[in-house]
Order: sequence, then structure tokens, then C-alpha cells
Amino acid sequence: MIQASAYLNSQLRDLSVHSEYERRLRVLIEHCRRNLPSVDEERIRRAFQVAYWAHRDDRRASGELYISHPLEVALIAARDIRFDDTTVIAALLHDTVEDTDLSLGLIESEFGAEVANITDGVTKIDQVFSTRALGRAENVRKLMLSMASDIRVILVKFADRLHNMRTLDSLPHEKQLKIAADTLDLFAPLAHRFGLHEVKSELEDLSLKYLESDAYKAIADGLKAKRRQRERFVEGFINPIRRELDEAGFEFEIYGRPKSIYSIFRKMRKQEKELDEIYDLFAIRVILHSEGKKGREDCWRVYSILTDLYQPLPERFRDFISVAKSNGYQSLHTTVIGSEGKPVEIQIRTAEMHEIAERGVAAHWKYKDEMGGPSGDGAPVVDTSGRDARVDAMYEWVRDLLENPRANDADEFVKEFQLNLYDEEIYVFTPRGDLMTLPRGATPVDFAFQIHTQVGFNCIGAKVNNKMVPLSYVLTSGDQVEVLTSKKQSPNPDWMKFVVTHKARSRIRHWINEKRRNAVDAGRETLERKMRRAKVEIDEQLINRASSRLKFPTSQQLFYEIGAGLYDADEFVRFIKRGAEKEAEEEAASADSTARLEIEQFAADAQEIGKTALIIDGEKHTDMAVKYAPCCNPIPGDDVFGYISKTGSIKIHRVTCKNAPNLLLDHAERIIPVEWSRQKDVHFVAALRIVGEDRVGIVSDITTVISKSLKTNIRSITVESEDGLFEGTLVIFVSDLKQLRRIIQRLARLDGIYGVYRFEE
Ligand code: MN
Repeated sequence: MIQASAYLNSQLRDLSVHSEYERRLRVLIEHCRRNLPSVDEERIRRAFQVAYWAHRDDRRASGELYISHPLEVALIAARDIRFDDTTVIAALLHDTVEDTDLSLGLIESEFGAEVANITDGVTKIDQVFSTRALGRAENVRKLMLSMASDIRVILVKFADRLHNMRTLDSLPHEKQLKIAADTLDLFAPLAHRFGLHEVKSELEDLSLKYLESDAYKAIADGLKAKRRQRERFVEGFINPIRRELDEAGFEFEIYGRPKSIYSIFRKMRKQEKELDEIYDLFAIRVILHSEGKKGREDCWRVYSILTDLYQPLPERFRDFISVAKSNGYQSLHTTVIGSEGKPVEIQIRTAEMHEIAERGVAAHWKYKDEMGGPSGDGAPVVDTSGRDARVDAMYEWVRDLLENPRANDADEFVKEFQLNLYDEEIYVFTPRGDLMTLPRGATPVDFAFQIHTQVGFNCIGAKVNNKMVPLSYVLTSGDQVEVLTSKKQSPNPDWMKFVVTHKARSRIRHWINEKRRNAVDAGRETLERKMRRAKVEIDEQLINRASSRLKFPTSQQLFYEIGAGLYDADEFVRFIKRGAEKEAEEEAASADSTARLEIEQFAADAQEIGKTALIIDGEKHTDMAVKYAPCCNPIPGDDVFGYISKTGSIKIHRVTCKNAPNLLLDHAERIIPVEWSRQKDVHFVAALRIVGEDRVGIVSDITTVISKSLKTNIRSITVESEDGLFEGTLVIFVSDLKQLRRIIQRLARLDGIYGVYRFEE
């Protein structure tokens, strides 16, 4: 460390700081002196120099020296957040560890553990945001809190985000949209929870400027055009109040304050009104310079004077003094009728309440101190861990506030999010950076259908922020989504379980119905053809009777199953041909009993060798024919069961076979337990589908994996590639499931492979 410090000293000795930045540093220090409880000017200077030196080769997207960013972030910390000088120092250094070769150790030896800890926290939060492994704003809050052992981490993060939003113009459009969506979705509500009203308002307005640039401009221009008129109205409204309050001997300020563009925008959207139709474009604020209990009483006295002057709207009255908002906000709100019948909102509060309203958490502690909080006289109290006790206590306060919203705030707490215009919608991006709005809960499949129905039909996988995700993945604002398609893919009925958009739902349902109709038609055609060939009269009634005998709920279902390849039309023809159903039944019953006898015999044999289940290994085992069902191609190791067919043979199905539920439900008496023999030297066919990036050498990589695997042979391999996506079908011989799993794992680990799926048929 000492060595490192010496190195830094030698570097800083020759540092020449551009005069422009010297000037801005002086401005920063001036704001620190004015706003912070104590200011170690030397440390701030030193932090500035270290940051200046560390970022000496970096530029911002705008082209100016990078140092201007940390300098502005520090200025926001000193001017708007106003917590302490450690926050300012950490703000100056916040990007050094991530972006330069300055180490955390060096920061610690230069500025102490606190500054290092805050810098580290900011870096970590940045990393979390860049990976976007996040859910809703609520989770993010908790996550940020858990990461930020020091609340100042979050304060620096707010300042950082605010400056990035202020300078968003120099970034490419798609990046602007992404950052703005993130800001509106996460940082603004979070700042609100911390009571940082000013920061929150500015973040919202700036986000809107990019996300809804036309609406933003229309409102901003509209406000500007009517400014004179508004100011005259405010003056006329305020004058009588000012006279009365002066007469009553209050010390106070009163002014009209324009509402934020974002809040006006929201009101317009919510009430479906034009700007001209929104009256309360501003609020009147009365700030009283009296404190404590007297201050609270004065607020009520002012309220009573006001409502003598103007007619109040009782339903708009709110008392946030007796019951503060969950973020500490206190004020009386009332709306009265001004001239021309216009409603005017008035906020009444003391200076102390006002500071908490504007700066929340940071101001809150100042008053806690004065009221004799844990840090007593306001001087930093150093606890055993060496940390400023007020930071710890404030952290506790915030955590409490975020984790345990008081019961009477619960409603407001929930509403705050429900009211958010964007809460029901998310913004995501195409790979080219086009913005797309989707309802919350939307998945890559919804996204795919939004692009084009065919893309939806063919989607086989998705990448979110360049990482493969399941199709059921829930997207969040700011995600960049890329859909992978394959011509072979068709909609999966399971998708209905997770898609949320109307478009995706209706298209998938339509497709399923269509497919079913086609199968019914094809099945009927097949059956009729086979009946003609077998010289059986095509009689609708006969078909109906026979199909109900065979436990099909309707003949449509019979056609469907034939058409979908689930049921063999020949079997049906044979069944009819055998004549009377009764006769056929007897035949089936006798086949049953023959089979049963054989099974019993077999079971007895098996018992002798200590097994109760049928032992199979792929060979003919007894006199009975054991067949492996072609619908699911079982191989040793699969969970299987045996099904005694009407002809007396035993078909082995996988438990996961799509026909299994029907067989198990309708013919439970025909099911027998089956076990695989431990014998090894038999080979089974397994088919795999491999999807991945189409890259040079991928086929040889796949075949190498197979050939290196003992006792595995490739029967066939087909490969198709399109749009950079590779899709292979691989049929291999394996000896058991364990081996197949191993091969799947190895294939899946290959570079650029998105998925390896075993498939049937
Ligand atoms: Mn930064």
C-alpha cells in the first residue's frame, strides 16, 4: 500500500489540471461549504486529483474529458442531495475502479475504508444493472439495499444516474431509450422511496423526454407559451393570502410552482385530456418558518385562513402531517376554487417538512440530529466498527421504510406503483434497437408474434441481452430480445400456458384448431380409403358405434387420432371387419386372457429369479413378443411400462410417452411393470435435435463427441442452417440412458450450442 501511495504521489506531482476544471472544482467546494455539515477541503481536492489522473485518457460520448462526469456527479451530491463530504468524495471516485486501472486497495489507503466501500458498492450495482438479471422495481430496491451496506452507495448511484440522464443526448438513440426506460422503471420510483423528490422529478421528466419525445415537447412548449398568463393568475391568487398571513404575523414564503411535465403527461393520459383542459398545471406552496409543535399548529391555522378566502373541495383534502407518507413526506394538501372557477392545489408545510419533502433521506437525518437522534449533537459519532453512526442509523431507517411500510401507508405504497403509467407495460428492444412496447409478463414468444406471426410460429429459442433464455422467460424493461427461428418449428400448445398478448394467444389457438381440423379431415380420409380397400361399407352409424365401443368419446376424436398418427386405422378396420362388436369383444377378451396367462406365467418365472417385473433388454425375452413402442422409442434406463395389446404382445412405452395417459387411464388392467435387464451389450436408437450457432467446425465437433463416447455409433446425421442458426438431427446407437445423458451433456457444452433435445419418432 505504501508503495502504491508513493507511486500515486509521484504521478500527481506532475499533474496539470486544465483551468476549466480547476474552476469547476472551486464551484463544487463552494457548494460543499454551503450545504454540508463539515467539509474536508483537502480530501475533496485530493479525490478530484486522483480521479482526474485516473481518467486522464478517458472521454465521454460527448467528447469532453471524462472527469467532467464524476465532477458533475459530485456536484449533484453536494448541491441536491447534500449528505456529507464522504459522499462527495466517493462521487468523484465512483467510476475509477470500473473504468481505470486504479485499484480499490489504493482508494482505501488514500481515502479510507468508507470511501473504498462506497466506490465498491457503486461498481457492483453497475454490474448488476448491466447484466439485467432483475425483476420488478420492488426486488431491485431490496437488492440494492442488500448490496449497499452504506446508504451513501445509493445516494451516489442516484447522482450518477441523474447526470447520465442529463447528458443522454450524446448517446445513440436506442441506448437513450434503453437507459430512459430503466430510469423510469427503476430509478425514479426508487428515488421516490428515498424521499428524493427533486431527483425523482427530474429523472421522470428526462425519461419522458426520450421515451415520449413528441408528448414531452408538446407539453413543454405549451407550458412555455402560457407562462405569462399563468404567472398573472398565480399573482392574483396569492396576493390576498399573503395579506392575510402577514396580518396574522406569520413568517412564511408563498409561491406558485409548476408541476412536472411527467405528472402533467400522466394526468393527460389518465383523464384522456388535452393540455388546455388540465387546470392544475401548478401548485401553490406555503412554507412556514416556525418549528416543532408550533409549526404543525401553524399549518392548520394557515389552512383555516386559506379556506376562509377560497372555497375548498373537501374531497381533495389530505392531511400528511398527522400521518406522514411512508417516505417521511409531511404536508397539508388542499384544493380550492380560484377565480374563473379553476381548481388550485395548495400545499402547506414548515421549512423542516419542506426540506424532507425535497431531499428526503438526506434531510431527514439532519432533523433527527437536532431532535436528539443517535448522533446527539450532530457531530459524527464513531462506533466500534469505525463507521459514522448516523450512516448506520439512517441505513436502518431506510431499510425499515422499504421493508415495512406502515399499515396505513400500505395502500399508498401499492398505488404508487399501480399508478405508474409504465407499470403495466415494458419497453424492450429488437437487436437493431427498435423499441417495442409489451404488457408486463410478456415472454419471447409474445415478442416473436409481435414482430410477425410467422416469426412466432417458427420461434425455437430466444436470446435476451445475448444470453439464451427459455421461451417462457419473463421480459423486463430494457431487455434486448433476439428470436431464433427454425422453419421446422411449429407452435407448441404449451406456449398457451405463458403467453400474455392477445395476438400470441389467438394465433396459437387458431393454429392448434387448424391443425386439429386438418388431422380430423386427414384421418377420415385415411380411414375411408382403408375401409374401401378392405371392402367394408362406409356407414357413418357403424363407424360411430364402433368408435364408441373402442372408447373414443366421438368419431371426430377417432378421425383426429388416426390423422395425428396416434391410432392405427387398420386396427379400426380389422375391428369392424370382425363383424359384430360383441364377437370382436369376445375375441379381444380371449386375447386378453391368453396374454394374461402368459404374463402370469412370466411373472412366476420372474419371481424365481427374484424379480416381479417383466425384465426386458430389447431382445425377444419369452415366447411373448416384446416390442418397443415406435411412438416413444424407449431405451434402457428410461422409466417404462408394458402394455399388453389386444393381440397379446407387450409394447414397452416410456412413462413420458404422449400415449401413456390414455393407456394408463383407459386400460389400467393391461399395464404391467417392466424393468430393464442389467445386460449391457445391446444398442438402442435415440434421436437428438441440436440447435446452435452456425459456425465453422460445429459438425465435426459433434461427431467427435459421439465417436469419443464408448459404444456409441451414429446412424444418421442431418444438418440444416439458416440465418446463422444451425439445426441438426442426430440418430445414434447407445447402450442405455446414462450414456445418452452423458452424450447430451457433452454436446450441450460445445461452443455455440443452444440446446440439445431428445425427441421421439
Ligand atoms: Mn458514472
